[in-house]
Amino acid sequence: MTGQQVIDGAKREGRNVLTEIEAKELLKQAEISVVDTKLATSREEALSISQQLGFPVVLKVASPDVVHKSDAGAVKLDLRTARQVGKAYDDILKAVKKQYPEAKIHGVSVQKMARPGVEVIIGMSKDPQFGPVIMFGLGGILVEILKDVSFRIVPLARRDAREMIQEIKGYPLLEGYRGQEPVDVANLEEIILKVSSFVEQHPEVEELDLNPIFAYSDGAVAVDARVILGES
Ligand code: ADP
Ligand code: MG
Repeated sequence: MTGQQVIDGAKREGRNVLTEIEAKELLKQAEISVVDTKLATSREEALSISQQLGFPVVLKVASPDVVHKSDAGAVKLDLRTARQVGKAYDDILKAVKKQYPEAKIHGVSVQKMARPGVEVIIGMSKDPQFGPVIMFGLGGILVEILKDVSFRIVPLARRDAREMIQEIKGYPLLEGYRGQEPVDVANLEEIILKVSSFVEQHPEVEELDLNPIFAYSDGAVAVDARVILGES
């Protein structure tokens, strides 16, 4: 499926929220590194995909109606056996059906458990005056509580990408704090620039969130993605 087909498919169903799987498909085509993620529509399929990807894996609900998956008990990390995968599959569906009885469930996404890295986020939202604006920040509580983020208006030049990374207060964490390995900041710049071009090429995308991206000393990978389409 091309990126446009993913977008058109959602629109045909009258949806403006893409699932994590659809969002990752779209971003993968824009050459943004995402964790390989597949849809399972049965317990057996979840298991065979897990075996194909290799353990440990992560299971999450695939539903356009569940935006905060972990709050709904719909993210199960670090599953190491067939038994754990089967149980996670059942538990996710049970939790979601209980909390969101109206939710349309596509199935369960199966992906590899990514190795730990420094969690960062890259987002895009549209400002009524400036149009698309890209946000960068450190993931987790640093974003939620401290709002340690930076913004630039699309289109970004490499220098903008570099500056917006360097100006967050948490930047020392990326440089290798207390003996930790420094993060591949050039690769993060690259991702920011790719997101900027992606946004320019897809004006129908209203909001985008790569939250989190795991940043490593060599590269980075987005483990969660959210895309919201505009009315147009
Ligand atoms: P949501 O943001 O909808 O609650 P996420 O997909 O972001 O759900 O998952 C919640 C957390 O689980 C992430 O912030 C990340 O720390 C962890 N996580 C998610 N997917 C993976 C993965 N493939 N590998 C490792 N950790 C993951
Ligand atoms: Mg997330």
